[in-house]
Amino acid sequence: TTHLVWFRNDLRVRDNPALSKACEDSDAVVLALFVETPNQWESHHMSPRQAQFIHDNLKHLQTELAKLNIPLLYECCNDFTETVSRVVDICKQHQVDSLFYNRQYEINEHKRDLQVKQELSPAVICQEFDGNLFVPPLSVHNKQGTMYKVFSPFQRAFIKFYMQREHPIYPKPSKRNHSCSDTPLPKPTYPTKPYEFFKAGETAARQKLEEYCDKFVEDYNKYRDFPSKNYTSQLSAYLTLGVLSVRQCFHHLSQKHPSFLKDRQNGAFAWFSELIWREFYHHLIVAHSYLCKHKPFIEWTDHIQWQNNTDHFEKWKSGQTGYPIVDAAMRQLNETGWMHNRLRMITASFLVKDLLIDWRWGERYFMSELTDGDFAANNGGWQWAASTGTDPVPYFRIFNPTTQGKRFDPEGFFIREWVPELKQVPSKFIHTPHQWAENTGKPLKYPNPIVIHNIARKKTLEAFEKAKK
Ligand code: FAD
Repeated sequence: TTHLVWFRNDLRVRDNPALSKACEDSDAVVLALFVETPNQWESHHMSPRQAQFIHDNLKHLQTELAKLNIPLLYECCNDFTETVSRVVDICKQHQVDSLFYNRQYEINEHKRDLQVKQELSPAVICQEFDGNLFVPPLSVHNKQGTMYKVFSPFQRAFIKFYMQREHPIYPKPSKRNHSCSDTPLPKPTYPTKPYEFFKAGETAARQKLEEYCDKFVEDYNKYRDFPSKNYTSQLSAYLTLGVLSVRQCFHHLSQKHPSFLKDRQNGAFAWFSELIWREFYHHLIVAHSYLCKHKPFIEWTDHIQWQNNTDHFEKWKSGQTGYPIVDAAMRQLNETGWMHNRLRMITASFLVKDLLIDWRWGERYFMSELTDGDFAANNGGWQWAASTGTDPVPYFRIFNPTTQGKRFDPEGFFIREWVPELKQVPSKFIHTPHQWAENTGKPLKYPNPIVIHNIARKKTLEAFEKAKK
């Protein structure tokens, strides 16, 4: 018997249901497969940093799998159509009896899997699992049997559902009897770029998780909104590519803080809530597959007349808007491939509500730069900020970028790190540096604000109200 495990966004050997199930029959020969799809990735705007992170994690995965006597086959196909026929060929070539994989829920990925299943049937059985979420999408629903549209009731129902069941973590499978030989992985065809903050490999990911639960998570709700404090876990890229599973996160969290569900004011609970936001957005794209086609959740928002000024867009991208907190955040993204959540909210709001640029432009740009780019979380975050999604900020509540900066980077520590032109500006004026330049007559090599917030805000309100009529 030959079993093939197709790895996609689950690059780990622990708590991997597809791998564990494929290894249950100790006599079966187990092979592993990864398929790079450069044209498809490009059409999904995948960042070169993410491609590099995938490659680095695959090297670790190959080493881990080799210890289990499981060889990793690496294929490069242009897109998902080519992938379908390549997977079918590989199954024939290796006389595979069963194909194992953890589900992906985005529309193109889902279609690809359906085609593979159809083409392989009945000779090869496809065994699918839900390895990358807490629970299968749509298993948590309201009394009408449909997906929640608002986060808080979803969270309550989810916790109830999750705690009523056992969720064992799948251990690393044991070593197979058949020996295997691997060929070194080729360099990816897709462009790559170095990323920061994430050390590749499952072991590094687990160590970071353990350290986070040990030392930081308790104060998460106190400090998580202050970018200079660095109090969030920075585990997102591991979760996006499945180097770590959310269940492992829950498992470690409850080991370190066994009663965290009882005291909901603590940091551990607040952090768990963020993992549930991730779950919520992933379930939503299954319940409303048009979200994968870049449609807004609130239909009327599709009639907004965006200004889409390309010069403003370029200035937003490069961190030259004249709003220090926005510019610092965009420069952090451009230089490292990661951005703090509070700053994702501020920069997204600025693009949509101050520049009146279509949220989809920003969504695409984030994907093309983020190491942790994840369709569901990114789309959910953008639609939230743009007031076009489920559970959005109401469209008339518009962040003031200067006030946000004052609240969440009061001394300007974060701003000075990323906008060196403002290093000499005193803290009192760090969010309004032009005022300081004017008062003191000192030269400032920093752009003037590209829009005046109060005027921009009014224009945006008008555009939303016109679309709503
Ligand atoms: P922590 O605060 O430590 O949170 C732990 C984990 O929970 C994260 O790693 C992530 O998996 C999940 N999480 C946290 N906040 C959210 C959230 N609001 N929505 C969904 N999941 C969440 N997250 C991505 O993983 N990929 C994206 O492409 C992405 N794009 C975003 C775009 C916008 C406009 C916004 C507002 C948010 C986006 N997020 C995205 C969510 C969030 O900003 C990041 O998950 C978080 O900043 C990652 O840092 P962390 O690992 O330190 O998070």
